[in-house]
Amino acid sequence: MNYISTRDKKAVRTASGAILQGLSAEGGLFVPETVPTLSDEELSRCCALDYCARARLVLGKFLGDFSGEEIFDCVSGAYTGGRFENDLPAPISKLDDSTYVLELWHGPTCAFKDMALQILPRLLSVSAKKNRQEGEVVILVATSGDTGKAALEGFRDVPGTRILVFYPEDGVSEIQKLQMRTQEGENVGVCAVRGNFDDCQSGVKEIFTDPSLAQRLERAGKRFSSANSINWGRLLPQIVYYVSAYCDLVQNEEIALGDEINVAVPTGNFGNILAAYYAKRMGVPIGKLICASNRNNVLTDFFASGVYDRNRDFFATLSPSMDILISSNLERLLFELGGRDGEQVRALMAALQSEGRYAVPPQMKARMQDEFFAGCCSDEKTKATIRSVFEQYCYLIDTHTAVAFDVCEQYRRSTPDERKTLIVSTASAYKFADSVCEALGLEAEGEDLFAPADALCRHTGVAVPQPIAALRGKTVRFSRSCERGGMAGFVCETLGI
Ligand SMILES: *Cc1c(COP(=O)(O)O)cnc(C)c1O
Repeated sequence: MNYISTRDKKAVRTASGAILQGLSAEGGLFVPETVPTLSDEELSRCCALDYCARARLVLGKFLGDFSGEEIFDCVSGAYTGGRFENDLPAPISKLDDSTYVLELWHGPTCAFKDMALQILPRLLSVSAKKNRQEGEVVILVATSGDTGKAALEGFRDVPGTRILVFYPEDGVSEIQKLQMRTQEGENVGVCAVRGNFDDCQSGVKEIFTDPSLAQRLERAGKRFSSANSINWGRLLPQIVYYVSAYCDLVQNEEIALGDEINVAVPTGNFGNILAAYYAKRMGVPIGKLICASNRNNVLTDFFASGVYDRNRDFFATLSPSMDILISSNLERLLFELGGRDGEQVRALMAALQSEGRYAVPPQMKARMQDEFFAGCCSDEKTKATIRSVFEQYCYLIDTHTAVAFDVCEQYRRSTPDERKTLIVSTASAYKFADSVCEALGLEAEGEDLFAPADALCRHTGVAVPQPIAALRGKTVRFSRSCERGGMAGFVCETLGI
């Protein structure tokens, strides 16, 4: 099982090589040479297994040059030992006979990015060993909130790695800021940047490509790497929870093996829903893939018209982790739906680069519309949905999950399709407690950072997740901030180079 680039079929890598490299040299993303399948018999066998065993089975099909033992160690290191509440990484809540919620926020940072970032550092360590890359790997992350904290938790104290995270000083929520400033671990560093997310991101890019820095780093026996969502090692662990969720529904006798279900996914960079697409390709009986966007609805327009156009206003919404105008992982879908034609993908991406837009051929548009339903949801509708879901089911959802609920409802109203739907829940409501409070019409008392969470807990009786409750007693370890121009200095100082 090897990997090829979406822009060049001749750029072939082993699984470990693709994970280590992240992005192909000509700018393409790595995808498996062929998509492996799960036979009916295997899927049936999978139903009786626990999450880790299901993960081992799925990962084993994709990680050609990993031994069974290596995969075992990566999986159990990530998903057992209390990292996820009750050691259940992806439980399902049933709301009614056709609506199920896949809760992906029971990990250490209360957002779904833990599902991938708890295992990625382990996959990277094994990959480095296999490819005889020695020396410390230094992970640099620019974050708008969720990714930074999840990456810090994932890489914390992983041997042979260091992680440095930059966030925009005034661009993340107070809880997110506190989560990062109190981060524990001996190999972590956090710095606020006096600028916006773009400043952080371009600052990190400059550090990555600065030749003199690279030289100093090499002399110190270290290398830079990234943990961003285009790495196959982040996508692959996300395929697992779709397989697992399907098996849970069978196991709980909500569906019979072979019945198709729809999935609704709150989407930003298109990683999560692409994992659902790959699960379907593997043979999991998935019907419609429902792609839910907020007011930044570039994907909704794309699925309707076949034209991707990023030349539009950017909006800051109540679901900030989905505020994205370029969904990088979409490139993999273009590759798959366009008959795996690297030339075609290259031309589309060149157009995106130069004109900020591209149009796909009619056959591809037809295939997209066959597989996906796409819709979008305003902030007002997001709040109304949080309210109505709580009133109807006594079930608390965050702002991102609410977008998926609303678009799922739009789909149901538009078709006679009566298949059951799995709605993917990507964050705990407590991570966005102030917005959720507002949606429910609750007043938080006082200025305290935790007042919205307290109000939410009092009103709903839903316990505050342990990682958020524990923040109260934590010591701030990182209070540094710098100008954009000072980011490289922070890196050198921290690494002692
Ligand atoms: C990152 C994120 C998303 C978007 O996921 P993609 O894989 O980028 O589409 C949705 N919800 C939350 C809470 C997130 O952190």
